[in-house]
Amino acid sequence: MDGMYGKGLLKGLAVTFKHFWMTYIEDIRWLMRGKRRYYTTEGIANRRSSEAAGIFTVQYPDEKMPVPEEFRYVPFLIYEVDENGEKHDRCTSCGICAKVCPPQCIWIVRTNDPKTGRPIPEPEQFYIDVDVCMNCGLCAEYCPFDAIKMDHDYELSVYDRQYNLYDKEKLSKPVSYYASIRPANYDREEKARKEAEAAKAAARAASSTTTTAP
Ligand code: SF4
Ligand code: SF4
Repeated sequence: MDGMYGKGLLKGLAVTFKHFWMTYIEDIRWLMRGKRRYYTTEGIANRRSSEAAGIFTVQYPDEKMPVPEEFRYVPFLIYEVDENGEKHDRCTSCGICAKVCPPQCIWIVRTNDPKTGRPIPEPEQFYIDVDVCMNCGLCAEYCPFDAIKMDHDYELSVYDRQYNLYDKEKLSKPVSYYASIRPANYDREEKARKEAEAAKAAARAASSTTTTAP
């Protein structure tokens, strides 16, 4: 029995030593090719691949693993910026996301017109308790206006729990940010939006032709 364990131990140590020495050998190979193996996108991609030899960990937080497009952490709200630089929330404060959220960690306060008291389709306040959020993405799935999406930012550590109740200001990000982290999703939604607009315009044109016909 002892002999068997000893053999396994030696095999394990051999693997460890192989990785140890290969780290230096690979470093020298990369240097000879005039490339940097650390702190570069190419170097990180290599260490994540099946080609990796030697060290395959990343030097976090100086290096970070890229996340796939569908990676999701906590939600964020999207706003558009018009030609005058004015921000416009996509959110209409319809409340669907708050209804479907399984742990009920979304709170929305609707905006009311100060003169008429009638509701305006935009949120006055929007809160998400990110300590309670279970990152399920249902809010983003159900939002009919593509106004809430799942973020890639996973570095949310703070020293004080109260900072994890995110308000509208902290949740809001421009549509350009969304396009940068989820380009395929953004392109698909924009295409669908344009097609829907074109279909509506065609329907309007058809109905006006029918009504004006003698
Ligand atoms: S984020 Fe979407 S689902 Fe939630 S209130 Fe706003 S428009 Fe409605
Ligand atoms: S990701 Fe899930 S848990 Fe988090 S706010 Fe959205 S619906 Fe709620």
